[in-house]
Amino acid sequence: MYLVFLGAPGAGKGTQATRVCEKYNIPHISTGDILRANIKEGTPLGVEAKKFIDKGLLVPDEVVIGLVKQRLGEKDCQKGYLLDGFPRTIEQAQALSEFADITNAINIQVDEKLVVDRIAGRRMCKCGESYHISWYDKDTCAKCESKLYQRDDDKEETVKSRLEVYKKQTAPLIEYYEKKGVLSNVDGSQSMDKVFEDIVRILDDND
Ligand code: AMP
Repeated sequence: MYLVFLGAPGAGKGTQATRVCEKYNIPHISTGDILRANIKEGTPLGVEAKKFIDKGLLVPDEVVIGLVKQRLGEKDCQKGYLLDGFPRTIEQAQALSEFADITNAINIQVDEKLVVDRIAGRRMCKCGESYHISWYDKDTCAKCESKLYQRDDDKEETVKSRLEVYKKQTAPLIEYYEKKGVLSNVDGSQSMDKVFEDIVRILDDND
């Protein structure tokens, strides 16, 4: 099972990816998480990536492609993986096709208004859990009790440019994977459980 998750920022990719990876026991590879970990550790990659992330822009292709290629070469990726947030450009997708055979691209569809609301109310934990203020009113994580925070790039000014970048550079991937015959669309405006159910049905049907 070699999966790609597509969808605008705030579509629910991260939340669904975590659940799918738990169910099928495959590694969850989120380029956003890898870049944020590098920023936190102050690595040269993190210092470079931060300049782009803070503006809501994409980190250059060659940087993320190298990162993903290396990660997919690790042993735990041999039997499958889920890519969350990669590819984000046609160039990245083309590069990926040279070292990976994607079996499913799941596109989580949500309209723009919903996405803005979801991002504005999103709160994160360092353990990877994410919450929304509409259904979670505590400021500590239910799993590990750490303090929740808002991602810097979830602030309003940055969200606008992330959405523009998505429309221009990432949305064309929907057609790219449709032409390859591996695309499935899921209605991401449904409840988290229903979205998960739909994704599982698609993946189990393909077995
Ligand atoms: P995410 O957590 O997937 O929303 O990613 C957060 C930010 O990290 C994005 O807005 C980009 O600046 C950067 N990023 C993550 N994945 C990629 C990628 N595949 N290509 C370029 N930049 C990326």
